[in-house]
Amino acid sequence: MIVEIAKGIHLIKCPWSTYFVSSCAIIGETITLIDVGTSDSPENAIYPYLRGIGRDPSEISHILLTHAHFDHCGGVAVIKKETGCKVYVHESGKPYLEDANLINRELHKRFPALYPEKEKPDFESVKVDATFKDGDLLNLDGRQIRVLHTPGHSVCSSCLIDVEQGVYISGDSVQGRGERRPLLFYSSKKYAESMRRLLNEPVKILITGHPFPPFNDALLRGENAVKHIHESLKGIEELEAIVWKVLERSDKPLSIEQIYEKIRMSRPVTIGCVLEEFEREGKVKRTEATGGYRWTIRDRR
Ligand SMILES: [Zn+2]
Repeated sequence: MIVEIAKGIHLIKCPWSTYFVSSCAIIGETITLIDVGTSDSPENAIYPYLRGIGRDPSEISHILLTHAHFDHCGGVAVIKKETGCKVYVHESGKPYLEDANLINRELHKRFPALYPEKEKPDFESVKVDATFKDGDLLNLDGRQIRVLHTPGHSVCSSCLIDVEQGVYISGDSVQGRGERRPLLFYSSKKYAESMRRLLNEPVKILITGHPFPPFNDALLRGENAVKHIHESLKGIEELEAIVWKVLERSDKPLSIEQIYEKIRMSRPVTIGCVLEEFEREGKVKRTEATGGYRWTIRDRR
């Protein structure tokens, strides 16, 4: 099925887990891909799609990444080997692509109870050819792609924007709300800031990295796109308030898992990101205990 969501921009749904991960193909003289799924997505989804529209995978000249998570960048190594294409990512994402196990080491260090040490990375490391930063304008085949750095889900999360058509390709930057979202690995505070920034942008079409709730669709147009960003902001504000309430009501320090048991929303790692921000603001403190950290409010009234 051909899904041309705007002039020259195609959405390829790469099956993954219980849903899919989005890969966008920008079709011009050459082909630029934005996100490329997991290591088997090129063979299983991306190449067949390109052939289906009469193009050849060898025409892929660039891969731009919305962030350096394995379900979005796992296909890079394969495609780069086969085509010699250039790989671009936000400047803060370069170390994570070039050392695929870095993210696992960091998560283990921050949340040892949630992330045991992992020897094997989840994707093959790749050399980055160029980095971009907030505000950059990339010229691809005469098409202007603007970079909006939207950290929160990850440090390097970025929206790649087709300026002329108002198409925002957001990867996992905008998580939606409900079920187990938001899922954050970096910062709840930066995430909320990114949502506020996006609400000031002229978003006409939003392509998300997966079909997130509440719409459970990766292609959102007009009002729905804006509503999705609003819901995402509400989702993190709501989670922060609930985590705070649980800490207030507890007379003893709690682990992330204990907080998660009580609230049963989002995920433990996201709660961890919220607690880290509370700690940076001086509102909570952590103590070391057997089996990981415990968290408590700093100044109890
Ligand atoms: Zn991600």
